[in-house]
Amino acid sequence: MKHSHSGHHSLQDSMLKLLSGLSFNQNRNILPPQDSSFVCFSCGSSASPSPKLRMVTAKVWVLKKHFEGFPKTSDFEMKEVALANLKDGEVLLESVFLSVDPYMRPYSKRDMKEGDVMIGTQVARIVESKNPAFAVGAFVVANSGWRTHFISDGRGLNLLPTSWPESLPKSLALGTIGMPGLTAYFGLFEVCKMKPGETVLVNAAAGAVGSVVGQLAKIGGCKVVGCAGSDSKVAYLKKIGFDEAFNYKTVPSLDEALRKASPDGYDCFFDNVGGEFSSIAINHMKKYGRIAVCGAISQYNDSVPQKGPYIQFPMIFNELSMKGFIVSSWNNRREEGVKALLKWVLEGKLKYHEQVTERFENMPAAFIGMLKGENLGKAIVKV
Ligand code: NDP
Repeated sequence: MKHSHSGHHSLQDSMLKLLSGLSFNQNRNILPPQDSSFVCFSCGSSASPSPKLRMVTAKVWVLKKHFEGFPKTSDFEMKEVALANLKDGEVLLESVFLSVDPYMRPYSKRDMKEGDVMIGTQVARIVESKNPAFAVGAFVVANSGWRTHFISDGRGLNLLPTSWPESLPKSLALGTIGMPGLTAYFGLFEVCKMKPGETVLVNAAAGAVGSVVGQLAKIGGCKVVGCAGSDSKVAYLKKIGFDEAFNYKTVPSLDEALRKASPDGYDCFFDNVGGEFSSIAINHMKKYGRIAVCGAISQYNDSVPQKGPYIQFPMIFNELSMKGFIVSSWNNRREEGVKALLKWVLEGKLKYHEQVTERFENMPAAFIGMLKGENLGKAIVKV
């Protein structure tokens, strides 16, 4: 089941319902306590659990078979894994929201072997803690893959900022106020070195990264042109302030559409797509234009690599700069980025939309749907 959330209200309500409905005994993966010393996860009582009695079974999705071409649901397999009892310094976490992202497609090929748990991040709640830095009930962003429950020694867990308002869905920590938002922030300000008055082009503009890129460019005083793969996405781009937007799938000519949207060309091009679009867009860059190579989603499912056209001529004639980047290079400035994004969201200057798929069982479908363009804004799975 899939539904969407925008603004500050709908997801907040369901989040509150979700939180109030969560209790230790209601989770069928966790056996009920057998003695009175057992910790109560629903009320947060800190009584220590009897280590012999707790039994937690996590559901996990593994990569059963490396993707060939477009991923299929049969490439995934769901398994159950019994978790060990906590040791000192460890915490037990329960995923509340999981992220499905384009990088999982190329990174699975580069970093994973068949049988591995799928890579990914989640917003998770601490349900048991033997680590003083993480209190029961706190929420973190973790990088623990497609799992309902997991144990961590605390390394790599990022607590949600204490200033996170109750009114905001915590899933935004995986989207507009998380990795994709930070990608837009550092890509625009540090890679494109965008300046007020410039013209910025972004593709996959209605997605998690692209929708933030366009809005930050507006906040920064630029003209923004975006493209996306459906008319309703184009309408959304206009609604959130893009100056020009077009459907790259239906325009008769990409070259013409880019020229019409900005006859003078583009100072900055935030490229999420690669392939044919980028080959055409590079010819529309202004002198000294800057291209941030963020992603190449049009190429991720290719079995045979696409061939040129080649980019040297426009690079030379217009003295362009083109730089690939990975958001984690700015991990040391994460706090700064999160703080800025949170502030703009709260001020209403940065709007968000989430495509929420219900149930952990639907992770592969949500992932495949996102690659097909079914998401508006950030694709999220609610466990
Ligand atoms: P999105 O939320 O934008 O979802 C992916 C979108 O890509 C789809 O909704 C679809 O929208 C579009 N798309 C799919 N196939 C194609 C295609 N063949 N041509 C054009 N568009 C296509 O994902 P993210 O915002 O999370 O990621 C956007 C890009 O940024 C990706 O390339 C990703 O790998 C990259 N990225 C890079 C990071 C870095 O550190 N360098 C960090 C995070 C993301 P539509 O309907 O418009 O086609």
